[in-house]
Amino acid sequence: MALCPPSPAAAIPMPDKRAGLVYYGDVHVGTIGLRSGNPFGTDQWQWRCGFYPGSEPRDCTSGTAASFDQARGDFEEAWRVFLANRTEADFDEYRKHRAWTAWKYAMWDSGCKLPTQLASGQSRCFCGAVIDIKGMSQHVHVAHMEAA
Ligand SMILES: [Zn+2]
Repeated sequence: MALCPPSPAAAIPMPDKRAGLVYYGDVHVGTIGLRSGNPFGTDQWQWRCGFYPGSEPRDCTSGTAASFDQARGDFEEAWRVFLANRTEADFDEYRKHRAWTAWKYAMWDSGCKLPTQLASGQSRCFCGAVIDIKGMSQHVHVAHMEAA
């Protein structure tokens, strides 16, 4: 049985068809990926740039493009503008929000109640610490926020 000659198309690198996540350090700052469900003849790629909180919703931008390279170029341009308007405090705000969200899900996953869900206003963290409504966010930032 004769082997098929390799197709010339096989030599063309194809970007990953799943949405590519774009990171700046440890912060997820956007995506570049193929659109799904859009009509033939329209832009096949889309990008999204920015993170929230740590910015105003209007600071986050997105667009579509005919090719991956164009989407990446548009993203990089948008990122330059976005980054120029950010401070380290904005990144911290995002990281705190991320830590808070991860903690909340970890609490639910471990069957623990948030202090706000109990009449006493006091609860026990999955790590064993006693927490109340007032000290809850401080506890998350001190005990459960990964070092940036
Ligand atoms: Zn804890």
